[in-house]
Amino acid sequence: MCRFRERARSFSRVSWFLLALATIGCGPARPPSLDEDARQYVRLAVALGERDPDSLDFYAGPADAVADIRRSPPPLAAIKREAEALSARIGARDDAHPAERERAAALVRDLAAIAARIDLLIGVRLGYDQESLAFFGIAPEPIDDRGLEAIRSRIAVLAGGSGRLVDRYAAFASRFTIPPDRLEAVMTAALDACRRATVAQIALPPGERATLEFVHDRPWSAFSRYLGGAHSVIQVNADFRFTIDQALQIACHEGYPGHHTRNTLRTAASGAERSVQLTFSPESLLSEASAMLAADVAFSSDERIGVERDRLFPLANLAAADAASHVEVERLAGELQPVQADVARRYLDGQLEFARAAAELEARALVPHAEAQIKYINEFRSYVTTYTTGRATFAARLRACEGTGPAARARRWRCFQHESLMP
Ligand SMILES: [Zn+2]
Repeated sequence: MCRFRERARSFSRVSWFLLALATIGCGPARPPSLDEDARQYVRLAVALGERDPDSLDFYAGPADAVADIRRSPPPLAAIKREAEALSARIGARDDAHPAERERAAALVRDLAAIAARIDLLIGVRLGYDQESLAFFGIAPEPIDDRGLEAIRSRIAVLAGGSGRLVDRYAAFASRFTIPPDRLEAVMTAALDACRRATVAQIALPPGERATLEFVHDRPWSAFSRYLGGAHSVIQVNADFRFTIDQALQIACHEGYPGHHTRNTLRTAASGAERSVQLTFSPESLLSEASAMLAADVAFSSDERIGVERDRLFPLANLAAADAASHVEVERLAGELQPVQADVARRYLDGQLEFARAAAELEARALVPHAEAQIKYINEFRSYVTTYTTGRATFAARLRACEGTGPAARARRWRCFQHESLMP
């Protein structure tokens, strides 16, 4: 009989975490291997997800490895205590191999993110930058107001009209907005186009698939739910109105080469920790930041215009004459995203109240009906960092990897895969 188990039974209030360790094996005392520690991290992540579903993006490992946790999740305080203990133990390791050291460091970062998330859930409120650093390891850069003003001026010229710029942008976008009864056909074709571009460059396992589902009453526009076994369900919020280019961006972001592709490749790689992804963590920063650039990787500017003009516009029964202007305006509007982090920061730090924050998002980021975005910020808080600052940081890494010159575009896929899958 295992001595460790006998000792464990002698305590009246034995830790659920230690009990889990006891099931790893018997025999002489030895420090747990990194694989064993990684499996404990997974159990902690799943436990947190049971207590707060927003905290867990997905778990795609074996159901029986976490069945007890799911049946009876420990309290948040216990999860935090175990996360800190596990982090201390992993931090004290002295692995010889650089890959193991990097893996251990990534686990320590993710465990710190678990502790920070629990602090938030039990009522600890940090400033936006501190919270963003605790979850993701980065905080938004100061805003380049002059650069953003130049972008808005270019949008004003392309959109035409007069009055408030957000209204002119919305009126321009309405010419390219998909009628509700055509949304499914356009999204299906967009996903197919992103997939074709991706599988021509990246090998995906046979049988992988991403299926579309249309939902209502959600705080987000779309969401990729990874189910394991190289299968994702991409939920699209049918309450929202999307332009043609937004549909293509969503399809590439959520599907190919965005979340579905990354989750499929990552969970197929070795390491138990890859079977799970926290929502608020350095890992999710990389996931979101790379997905933000998925459409830019999948298509050059000309290819993107071509796909939209020749395939998506006809399916939406829209005139495609101004497809190039539409793509350019949406690209420029995307460059205004740093404003969203700036507004989220000042709103959550108490410097802007709800109506003022919504007004700033409309005026500076050209987000029509910005109340929905403020509601999203209420729920997901500093997650805004991932798709704003995270995107900019990842774009810089991608540019550094691919370099310049005629071969840069050809290197982009390899760089994207390498940079987005790095721990
Ligand atoms: Zn995403």
